[in-house]
Amino acid sequence: MYTNWDDLKAACESCRKCELCKTRTNVVVGVGNPLAEVMFIGEGPGENEDLQGEPFVGRAGKLLDKMLDAVELDRHTNVYIANIVKCRPPQNRDPKPEEQEQCIEWLRAQVRLIRPKVIVCLGRIAAAKIIKPDIKITKEHGMWFEKGGILMMPMLHPAALLRDPRKKPEAFQDFLTLREKLREIGELDYS
Ligand code: SF4
Repeated sequence: MYTNWDDLKAACESCRKCELCKTRTNVVVGVGNPLAEVMFIGEGPGENEDLQGEPFVGRAGKLLDKMLDAVELDRHTNVYIANIVKCRPPQNRDPKPEEQEQCIEWLRAQVRLIRPKVIVCLGRIAAAKIIKPDIKITKEHGMWFEKGGILMMPMLHPAALLRDPRKKPEAFQDFLTLREKLREIGELDYS
């Protein structure tokens, strides 16, 4: 059980619990405000993230930043962003179930320290691991679920929006739904 970020970060950065440690450049622990009320969780680092040691810094990350900005959220001030697996799967393949299972302990430790009120899962893999295994991301994105006292919402992954830009309006609608909820629970002051 980790009670401070320095210990958690140091332990995570030296983790060798699964085979992804063999091919990584950096362990991508997470970025943002550890006091944030909102966490965004993706599936795992890609090439840019592996090289820079920060989640969502490639093209998909830039799109995520834009959408966050549109609802007055920002990766450095009022959200925390992390992934299910902290090391890049080779060739950006999906993280294997056993890798997710090994790595999820780090995410659980992060959630215990942050104690967010809202968790947004970016993409099917994160939503299936965190919200429910049979999630239908194309149908259920933008809906609210509740687990352990935390509100959770699946969203389309920004990389999917780059592949199919026609989905951007419905994805943006989910950010507006998120903003409504944050306003409702008093986490954003729009006065
Ligand atoms: S992916 Fe997670 S469990 Fe595997 S080596 Fe990296 S930090 Fe450890």
